[in-house]
Amino acid sequence: MRVRITERPGRATRLALVCALLSFAYLVAAWNAPIVAPVVGWIAPLGSVAVGVYATVRLVVSTPLGQASRRFWRTMALAAGCIGVGAVSQMFDTLAHGEPTQVLSDRTSAFDLFGLVLMIAAILLVPVNRLSRSAWATFGLDAGTVVAGGALFSWYFAIRNVDDFEATTGSALPLVATVATGFLGVLVLLRISFAGVREVHPGSLQLLALAALTSCSAAALSPTLADRPYLNTSFLAFPLAYGFLTAAVERQRRSTLAALDGVVAKDAAPRARRSLYVLPYLAVAATDGLLLHSLSSPAESGPVIVGAVVLTALVSARQLVSFRENGRLLRRLDTTVADLRESENRMTFQATHDGLTGLVNRALLASRIDSALAGGGAAEVAMALIDLDDFKSVNDRLGHAVGDTLLVEAAARIREATGADDTVARLGGDEFAVLFRGADPAVAAERILASLDRPLRIAGDELRIRASVGIADGWAGADSNELTRRADVAMYAAKSSGEGWARFDPAMDAPAADQARLAAGLRDGLGRGDFRLLYQPIVSLPGGQISGVEALVRWHDPERGVIPPDRFIPVAERSGLIMPLGRWVLREACRQAAAWRASFGAAAPSRMSVNVSPRQLDEPDFVDDVVAALADSGLPAECLVIEVTETAVFHGGLAVSSLAALRSLGVRVALDDFGTGQSSLGLLLTCPVDILKVDKSFVDGVTEPGDRAVIVEFLAQVARGLDLDTVAEGVEDAAQAERLVELGYRKAQGYLFSRPVPGAELAEQLRPTLGVASFA
Ligand code: C2E
Ligand code: CA
Ligand code: CA
Repeated sequence: MRVRITERPGRATRLALVCALLSFAYLVAAWNAPIVAPVVGWIAPLGSVAVGVYATVRLVVSTPLGQASRRFWRTMALAAGCIGVGAVSQMFDTLAHGEPTQVLSDRTSAFDLFGLVLMIAAILLVPVNRLSRSAWATFGLDAGTVVAGGALFSWYFAIRNVDDFEATTGSALPLVATVATGFLGVLVLLRISFAGVREVHPGSLQLLALAALTSCSAAALSPTLADRPYLNTSFLAFPLAYGFLTAAVERQRRSTLAALDGVVAKDAAPRARRSLYVLPYLAVAATDGLLLHSLSSPAESGPVIVGAVVLTALVSARQLVSFRENGRLLRRLDTTVADLRESENRMTFQATHDGLTGLVNRALLASRIDSALAGGGAAEVAMALIDLDDFKSVNDRLGHAVGDTLLVEAAARIREATGADDTVARLGGDEFAVLFRGADPAVAAERILASLDRPLRIAGDELRIRASVGIADGWAGADSNELTRRADVAMYAAKSSGEGWARFDPAMDAPAADQARLAAGLRDGLGRGDFRLLYQPIVSLPGGQISGVEALVRWHDPERGVIPPDRFIPVAERSGLIMPLGRWVLREACRQAAAWRASFGAAAPSRMSVNVSPRQLDEPDFVDDVVAALADSGLPAECLVIEVTETAVFHGGLAVSSLAALRSLGVRVALDDFGTGQSSLGLLLTCPVDILKVDKSFVDGVTEPGDRAVIVEFLAQVARGLDLDTVAEGVEDAAQAERLVELGYRKAQGYLFSRPVPGAELAEQLRPTLGVASFA
């Protein structure tokens, strides 16, 4: 059952409204002289009382309220009932003596007062949100302001005229009741505006405040009816009080039912209403008005002046408190922003630099090469790739610590041998690179080799660092990939010749034929259908249930056996074969996911993740391909996740608009290998993303203290802040998984849970949860 949240009043409220209108109409019609028997005037007001009491009781009896809410409304029902009995009793009072009168019996007053006490108790019992010290100070001062203003007004308009009341009603009690009702209204408003109520709907409380304020204002008119004993201010006060009560009850009922049903009413958030903050200022303004009014009768203006001064002092004190509080909040915001910025800087550095040597990493080098080449002087640009010889054996013989020291020393010497304008990078392992702008790379290579060759003493051992350097020169139209590849080719040439360094020459490129062969093989393989998908589960933490899978492609070449994607995806990208291959992967993954859903229903993995390479994303047909794959397989769009890398979306453009289009269809977008690209957190704001896949290199370091663990934690916070899901990649041991759970990660992927497996094998894993022998 769905509850519609409409603004239209319900049946009870409409009935109460009719009673109120009839009652007001009677007052107007009978203003000059009685028109019917006086008892008739009581029908409509008592009707509204009955409606209000009935609605409140029904709310308590038949609506599944929370505990505190139920207690509140039960007390309210009792109070409404009590005052309702008072109303009937009042009717008898006024009609009992042949001649109508407005004199109240003690019995009536007792019912009214008891009802009011019950209401005050109910309101004081409503749970409120926890307040800080300064919030309490503000609350106290505001409450003081409103109460002082209220007291002043009550005195001026009511208590000062207590004699008139006693003349009309025979007692001062109704006056007390009236003032108490007014304060009740104010109390309710203060509670919701400052503390923010929980459990009881704030809109209902506002309506109740209106009930109290309007009915007490109406009751305060008593003296004006002194010469019309057949009329009664209750004809105004009861329809107002019970009408608003009925509306309040209905509001509570609707929001409770809607919440049960998962529909969040748009005003259901129990937040303080901003507009109520003006109450104290209204009190001051009203007092100022009173001051002007009282100037005509100087005898009364004394207390009013005192009241105005007190109020002004209270409001000033309140300003001071909130001024200081604002200052504090601003300072806190400043430090938070500074912290965030520092973390981001640290993360950017981490993402663009090598942790051990502090040199630029591969990603940053690539982007610097690309911008140097794009700068126009491509011929001035050159690159050297430096590979340490025999580093592995040093590492094995003398241990990692010595190996690390050696790398750090090598980095320092390469830097020393190059100019300030050159970029020195560590590409990983024992591989370094230098980007030259204008310098002669051959001269630099000699200098680097000489510098490295100087003997080095580590822990008593004398070591010599030998290296091979490959150089490639830039040319118009070059890009970092191709330049690096050429430097690599030259480096291998240097290594095999033992000459120290070599400069790229197209003749060295014979092995490039290898690439061409691979590309040709790919084309044939696609034609033959040599590709298979493996599926690696993405599991929920800490339970380890399969929540999704990632499709990972494998090439089963008839001669070379299984070729991993790292080898052929780059070739496929360069040759454009990634388009048909990617399309096949997408269709096959969607087909498999739909088949699992058909066989395993709710036990099937709920999401299928597919990797999409940058080149695919840049293709104008990409969105259509995805839509077709979904339509043909029957897989709902919500079940598909597209995994892209930061670099693919970094430049915006078509890639980003395609992702936005897919997302609007319900497809989710994951940022893969997050943290390794040259992007910044800013990307998260511009790129349409749902999921962050935190790269394995960060997960690896999560159990040791240090920057990596800090970043993993920081990413979890950022993701939470931006409402993104996170998946920790490459989880290999239980300690990592435990730590990730502590840091707030709820999804993970890695060998700890499962390696990538064929679809049939994954189906085996799903079967036990289902207990039925059907097959995907
Ligand atoms: P990726 O998207 O980051 O995929 C995760 C890689 O990490 C997979 O390697 C997976 O086998 C591996 N892995 C998962 N858990 C662990 C772990 O605990 N320890 C370790 N050491 N490795 C783990 P795989 O299958 O070799 O794929 C490598 C990359 O090739 C993928 O990285 C992805 O970028 C690309 N790739 C794979 N399939 C496709 C595809 O269909 N299309 C495209 N465009 N790229 C693909
Ligand atoms: Ca991936
Ligand atoms: Ca990844």
